[in-house]
Amino acid sequence: MIKLLLLLLTALVVCAGETSSPDQLTCPLCHGDGLCHATGCDKGSRLCSGDCLKKEVGPWIKMDVPGHNTSELWRKFSWKSADGSGHWTAFNQQHIGQVVRLVDGEYKNLGICPLCKGTTRIECPACKGDGKCPVCHGKKALVQGTDMFTISDIKGRSLTLIPLTLIGDSVEGLRIPDLQKVTIPLAAVTPTSADTLRKAIGPKG
Ligand SMILES: [Zn+2]
Ligand SMILES: [Zn+2]
Ligand SMILES: [Zn+2]
Repeated sequence: MIKLLLLLLTALVVCAGETSSPDQLTCPLCHGDGLCHATGCDKGSRLCSGDCLKKEVGPWIKMDVPGHNTSELWRKFSWKSADGSGHWTAFNQQHIGQVVRLVDGEYKNLGICPLCKGTTRIECPACKGDGKCPVCHGKKALVQGTDMFTISDIKGRSLTLIPLTLIGDSVEGLRIPDLQKVTIPLAAVTPTSADTLRKAIGPKG
């Protein structure tokens, strides 16, 4: 009798485990650390994509320049003019954040970079600057009914997704767990599921 009871208890625990697992899921993008892992993102910012001088992008070399300390670091730009003669110019690290570009056949300093305002860093487009995972927004897990929604189509097949936007009569979202972008026509899902999706996106959609 005790053995049977134990078996029953084990079965109940296993069942509980199985039914509760889809309710919450470790975020498939950040794998549960809640951070943005977009290329180059460091706490929400990344290196400017413009052609401003950056200390991270070299080579920065030491040069003998009259009136300057020999410990200063310079970036050297060389070019050839139409007659084949060689030219060069160099800027030290005081010019970091300024745009140096080939203009009318020669390298010129065009001043403070308009993209990064001279900081050499811009907001990470993936996390919009907060450094948090763009899928779970730092929550580390996705909760059924709040972040992700399991819906059924009219043929009875089910799909779990993170709804993002309503475009016409379709909902665009990310499929769980591979985060592929999917477009679900509301007419293809059950009325209850269509309702769920509309509510999930909210009146702004
Ligand atoms: Zn995440
Ligand atoms: Zn810049
Ligand atoms: Zn980021």
